[in-house]
Amino acid sequence: MTPGRPVPPPLALHIPPADDAEQDLASERAGEGLLAAARGAVSSTSGLVPLTVARRAPKADDVEIAVEFCGLCHSDVHATRGEWGTQNYPLVPGHEIVGRVSRVGADVDDFAPGDLVGVGCIVDSCRECESCLDGFEQYCEQGMTGTYGAKDRRNGDAITQGGYASSVVVDRRYVLHVPETLDPAAAAPLLCAGITTFSPLRHFGVEEGDVVGVVGLGGLGHMAVKLAKAMGAKVKVFTTSESKVSAALELGADAVVLSRDEEAMTAENRSIDIIIDTVAAPHDLNPYFRTLRRDGALFQLGLPSEAMPPVNPGSLIRRRLSYAGSLIGGIAETQEMLDFCAEHGVVSDIELVGAEELNEAYDRMVAGDVKYRFVLDTTTLQAPSERADA
Ligand code: NAP
Ligand code: ZN
Ligand code: ZN
Repeated sequence: MTPGRPVPPPLALHIPPADDAEQDLASERAGEGLLAAARGAVSSTSGLVPLTVARRAPKADDVEIAVEFCGLCHSDVHATRGEWGTQNYPLVPGHEIVGRVSRVGADVDDFAPGDLVGVGCIVDSCRECESCLDGFEQYCEQGMTGTYGAKDRRNGDAITQGGYASSVVVDRRYVLHVPETLDPAAAAPLLCAGITTFSPLRHFGVEEGDVVGVVGLGGLGHMAVKLAKAMGAKVKVFTTSESKVSAALELGADAVVLSRDEEAMTAENRSIDIIIDTVAAPHDLNPYFRTLRRDGALFQLGLPSEAMPPVNPGSLIRRRLSYAGSLIGGIAETQEMLDFCAEHGVVSDIELVGAEELNEAYDRMVAGDVKYRFVLDTTTLQAPSERADA
């Protein structure tokens, strides 16, 4: 810590368990800002516990949002459990946020109280670099500000806190309009799982007749199936779970391959144009490269905490294949994706969970036991006496 530098106030405070009086505070205003009821981690081994987050009073460009739903992404598990290295604790995860605008700052004219809105993985960026100017804020050359666990440069270097919370305040430039025709709970996962799979499909120019392979049928994977189908592609799913075969076909997949079955894998050689790999653990990519046609590409989206087995350069060279990565998507592209989903009736298949079920939901996600995205109902964050159904 630099001597003499003002210390920013902590944004998240750990509340001792189950004190109703303190939890009641969560819905009251802290000065001009809000105290949000939240769930987050206080260490890599704490699991998710009740927290209170102080949200800033909306500045001129800010949108204050009453969060209704927040999807549970596997990245939330990696981050809260410290699997991606040191984190700033306390840490409130959540970057698949849908809610209604409660207040706007003086200079906001594109959002109004009552609007259905979304916030994804980005809440700020430098707004000046080539990537930001091109609408690819996720690749900001100065580093984008993530929705949680990041230093908020324009707000006193406070650590951002995410959407497992009753409210959030975000600059209007990073807030999305969620079409009213979409179910708000099922639309929440579009803000990360949706855009993360939409962006590489669009970047590769997937169109009618292309063959798309989807590896791993979890949150990202099932969105990749739905979006690729909506773009007119033929979809083959590669899964390690026999139990997901019929479910994949119900989602719209044209074929399902059990990736541990070598013969079944060989039968797919040279049959696919683009692979979207969403697996959250280390795995061998070489069998997948063999399934690609000339000029095909494999986009790796999963970010396992341990090293992956090496890729054989020979398989890339012999058919001019590309091995690519892709990070979420820019703000304009995220809006395009939401509008595309409204036009094609695409949302996530979800299982709604309450605040008390979050830790179990994380364990089930790691075990691959979810079809296909858990979504937190934020009304369960309030003290029991405040719940409408209590
Ligand atoms: P998820 O819902 O847990 O799905 C991951 C799927 O991977 C599982 O359902 C499973 O599908 C498959 N899998 C195979 N072996 C596995 C293993 N040993 N452990 C875990 N999964 C295994 O996760 P998600 O939320 O879709 O996220 C997937 C990955 O993408 C995570 O690493 C996440 O951090 C990352 N991510 C990246 C971005 C980006 O911008 N690039 C954005 C969001 C998330 P089967 O049962 O079908 O085999
Ligand atoms: Zn995510
Ligand atoms: Zn930038």
